[in-house]
Amino acid sequence: LVPNAQTAGISSVIRKKLMGYVGFANLPNQVHRKSVRKGFQFTAMVVGESGLGKSTLINTLFNTTLYPQKEPLPPAAERPKTVAIESIGADIEENGVRLHLTVVDTPGFGDFVNNDDSWKPIVENIESRFDSYLEQENRVNRTKIVDNRVHACLYFIQPTGHSLKQLDIEFMRRLHTKVNLIPIIAKSDTLTDEEVTEFKERILADIAHHNIHIFQAPTYENEDEETIAEAEEIASKIPFAVVGSDKIVVTPDGREVRGRVYPWGVVEVDNEEHCDFVKLRQMLVRTYMEELREYTNDVLYENWRTEKLLSMGVAQDSSVFKEINPAARLQEERVLHEAKLAKMEAEMKMVFQQKVQEKEAKLKQSEEELYARHKEMKDALDKQRLDLEDKKRKIESGRPLTPEKSSTTRKKGFLRT
Ligand code: GDP
Repeated sequence: LVPNAQTAGISSVIRKKLMGYVGFANLPNQVHRKSVRKGFQFTAMVVGESGLGKSTLINTLFNTTLYPQKEPLPPAAERPKTVAIESIGADIEENGVRLHLTVVDTPGFGDFVNNDDSWKPIVENIESRFDSYLEQENRVNRTKIVDNRVHACLYFIQPTGHSLKQLDIEFMRRLHTKVNLIPIIAKSDTLTDEEVTEFKERILADIAHHNIHIFQAPTYENEDEETIAEAEEIASKIPFAVVGSDKIVVTPDGREVRGRVYPWGVVEVDNEEHCDFVKLRQMLVRTYMEELREYTNDVLYENWRTEKLLSMGVAQDSSVFKEINPAARLQEERVLHEAKLAKMEAEMKMVFQQKVQEKEAKLKQSEEELYARHKEMKDALDKQRLDLEDKKRKIESGRPLTPEKSSTTRKKGFLRT
């Protein structure tokens, strides 16, 4: 660290050669040990019409009979009318590493006469898993968060050889911002190599046309050539044309392989010449399982969380954001200033109205008093006038003014005489 740079608030990194062994080169091993002890959690969702080989492929991928043998489908009239969501969990172990795998199946998807809303229950299910994670994050004690979020969605495309169906496009459009989409051409052994190539091109063109984002193997700067080549090879196979089989069959040259037997030969699941199963497994399990988990957490969940909190009226409270963004700070100051002005104006209006009301009340009171005084005086004058008129009339008629007065006079006169 350069001292002057430190006082100026700028830090710079200089490379130092160590004189001996310190030990932090062991950090990756610490992380490795801890992760192995804790085990891993992964949730995959499979979506596609019945009979496209979803359960067979999951059993093939994880080399276990996760899905029990299925009963044949009941007649269409007896099937449930909505898409059901079913989860199967399994703890699997390989070379001492434990993986808790959850497979979310969506039986019923695309199986109805009207499939317009088939995607709805699936979106709701994915969002409710985000909701549950958010709720756990907001708890007072959040040391034990169970992550049920869907990390990858294998979308099975019917091997029609044409292009995507409206249902496929609608589903992917609705889901691509909420889950890592991995499109798969199911039962690709029913198509020839040329048909698969053309079908892939059309699917990719449709996906690009509708601005659908599917999961891409990430490439980082300073990556070694081998990793870059591996990522490119995986990317070149998307959408993966797969064949599933959990049965061991014998090839004409006597090898025991997982595959499907046809009169013209054997289709081998684990043979890269025959299908893209190996590349799909590489992407989903061997190379990018952690990437899928990370992208779900850092991008898909984060975007959903921000939107959800904003829609609930929780505003971003980031002083750092304001510091580095003067426009945002100015805008906030302006809003605060305007609010202050509006408050002052409202207060002034209120005081003014109060004063006017007081004045009006006073004026009304003095008006009433004046009126009362005026009435009193008028009554007194009227009475006086009536008295005078009465007197006048009596004087004119020659009568004594008042009977009391005349009797007194008479009495007085009598006394005098
Ligand atoms: P799900 O309903 O989508 O789960 O389909 P299933 O896994 O139950 O498979 C339905 C049928 O298709 C079964 O008879 C499977 O043996 C068969 N199947 C599965 N995968 C493939 C495949 O890759 N190619 C072919 N030709 N058949 C398959």
